[in-house]
Amino acid sequence: MIDFKIFNGFPEVVQGMTTKDFGSLNSDENGFQDTIKKLQRELSLPTEPHFLRQVHGNKIHVVNTVAPLSEMPEADVLITQLKGVPLMIKVADCQALLFYDPTQHVIAAVHAGWRGLVADIIATVIRTLVADFDSRQEDLLVAAGPSLGPCCATFTDPHRELPPRFSPYINSENHVDLWAFTQAELHEAGVPPSHIELMKVCTQSSHDLCFSARAGDTGRMGAVIMM
Ligand SMILES: [Zn+2]
Repeated sequence: MIDFKIFNGFPEVVQGMTTKDFGSLNSDENGFQDTIKKLQRELSLPTEPHFLRQVHGNKIHVVNTVAPLSEMPEADVLITQLKGVPLMIKVADCQALLFYDPTQHVIAAVHAGWRGLVADIIATVIRTLVADFDSRQEDLLVAAGPSLGPCCATFTDPHRELPPRFSPYINSENHVDLWAFTQAELHEAGVPPSHIELMKVCTQSSHDLCFSARAGDTGRMGAVIMM
């Protein structure tokens, strides 16, 4: 289980990200219920985490109930102000970004694959936190665990497949540095560099440690945050 240092010093925050050895959190697979129960025990979560049918968009689901809905909402962002309500994003190569605003007491969990980044998911989340939850950009703390690195994020023709704002992050071999892109998007949206913890471990290069869809895994890692 990965523990993000940026949230240490905030005892009200429970957080972590599973690695491959923990088991798969793919909700479409057998064994999911056992792994979820294990996760609940490991992090002492009072309820099952809320999670989504992730669709590589930028839609936000605001959680207003303690118990998860029986039907998974179709969205890629979870936000809540409720205490004791865990949020989870499932990933294998995509970035799972965890947000905490210690001033307004709001958390967000974000599924940010390249399609989500193209759909402006980072700016959308921050705009929503500011507009609807009174967050200030400079208060936000953001963490992300392993995801596809610039070593392995290959595109056929990234200058055509991605909008122009990705150009500075495309290298000569058609690899894209999505970590640097995310960092730049967070900076541009007003999150201070010292408030960002991106692990920069590549899931495909480290697929002994991580689930990687590009390496052929169907398993998913879970990134969890709760106040
Ligand atoms: Zn790699």
